Amino acid sequence: CGIVGVLGHHEVAPLLVEALKRLEYRGYDSAGIATINGGTLDRRRAVGKLVNLSDLLVHEPLAGKAGIGHTRWATHGVPSVGNAHPHKAGPVAVVHNGIIENFRDLRAELAAAGYAAQSETDTEVVALLAQRELAGGADPVEAVQRTLKKIHGAFALCFLFEGEEDLMICARKGSPLAVGHGEGEMFVGSDAIALAPMTDRITYLEEGDWAVITREGAVIRDEADQIVERRMTRVALDS
Ligand code: GLU
Repeated sequence: CGIVGVLGHHEVAPLLVEALKRLEYRGYDSAGIATINGGTLDRRRAVGKLVNLSDLLVHEPLAGKAGIGHTRWATHGVPSVGNAHPHKAGPVAVVHNGIIENFRDLRAELAAAGYAAQSETDTEVVALLAQRELAGGADPVEAVQRTLKKIHGAFALCFLFEGEEDLMICARKGSPLAVGHGEGEMFVGSDAIALAPMTDRITYLEEGDWAVITREGAVIRDEADQIVERRMTRVALDS
């Protein structure tokens, strides 16, 4: 339902929760964040209101300057901690808005290859597909590129990878996604409103686009994997 991502200079957990709060008006049943700290990918998830996630983070803090967050509106799988995003498969974490329509076929194929799903969601196959590509020797960019060719449906996605403190990869098809530009920091949001306290410089991904983001900036490719220029706009938002 709501997606945020930050490659920052400061601790990102509070920034992610704050950005998710700005998306609360859209409704959700659970929420979660994942960060990378010292190369290690870890996550916290909670059912219900964002205050439940905030409370969990007080008792089990999550350090790190790179992270992704999500508010979920369940489509496949009941609202539960196990079905909340981010989904994680080995060295990959992903948040997703929308529906992966061919997830049943993919889940069966992945299970047969030894990549069994832990949740009831359609989303988890995305993490598992990327994990399988990495295990086969792909780098994160190749892993996402190949994963995107296998999934059908509507999605906005944002990936983080273990050991990669300066990398977020995101994609949009049928579900909006905005890339925000800071000073040596970069942001992702399903709605520019989520990013208002952090930046007003926004590049909207177009249908089929996917972007490789580091603190230096974003390299955007279209559905045919050609590098494209997308206009950066200044969005007037009251924060
Ligand atoms: N289909 C996914 C799920 O049920 C994502 C739902 C959403 O957009 O929040 O987990």
